[in-house]
Amino acid sequence: MNSRFFASWIDEIAAAVRARRDHLTQLDAAIGDADHGANLDRGFTAVREALAGASPQTPGALLVLVGSTLIRKVGGASGPLYGTAFREMGKAFGEAAEISPAELSAGLDAALAGVRRLGAAEGDKTMVDALAPAAKALAQAVRDGLRQEEALEAAAAAAGQGAEATIPLQARKGRASYLGPRSVGHEDPGAASTALILGALRAAASV
Ligand code: ADP
Ligand code: MG
Repeated sequence: MNSRFFASWIDEIAAAVRARRDHLTQLDAAIGDADHGANLDRGFTAVREALAGASPQTPGALLVLVGSTLIRKVGGASGPLYGTAFREMGKAFGEAAEISPAELSAGLDAALAGVRRLGAAEGDKTMVDALAPAAKALAQAVRDGLRQEEALEAAAAAAGQGAEATIPLQARKGRASYLGPRSVGHEDPGAASTALILGALRAAASV
């Protein structure tokens, strides 16, 4: 996977976020402040502009630019969280021009570790509940020697299941935690957007 692959991942994310913007906002309206779809749409629009302006030459440089743009452009919790995730993945890739599935898996682990450092654990009803199973599934797929598309399919499916599994949880982090038990019964918006982002990675592999 080269920098063109990661650029098409970003294009797929931007398109998915645009298509699901209202849905993400509705999820956030139920247990937050109804801005998650708008936050990410604004963020990934800015990311595409930044990438078009800078044309980074390596996957690592590209993802570090994605992360720093999200941190700069997205207010709210998700900007620094996703910004950190993309930056950490980019840093893990270093200067390499081509990323193997095993390196992608290490990058996703680094992204997860970065998000975890900002406060949430699995079961807190956040994006970690989609990201952690995706990272685990990708690592397992690499160990099992699956083809790239199958490995990314496994990661995307795990993220989707992880997001759905946030529905019965009570939020312990972020704005939704203010609702206490009233946060139960709704899918976490950040987990839902993480599932979109992993689905976009799968889609980029078949472009
Ligand atoms: P805000 O909550 O500031 O309005 P967004 O609506 O854009 O920001 O994002 C909300 C999402 O951020 C939540 O659904 C949750 O997944 C995620 N989130 C909030 N706090 C944390 C945290 N400490 N760790 C991981 N994810 C978090
Ligand atoms: Mg919000």
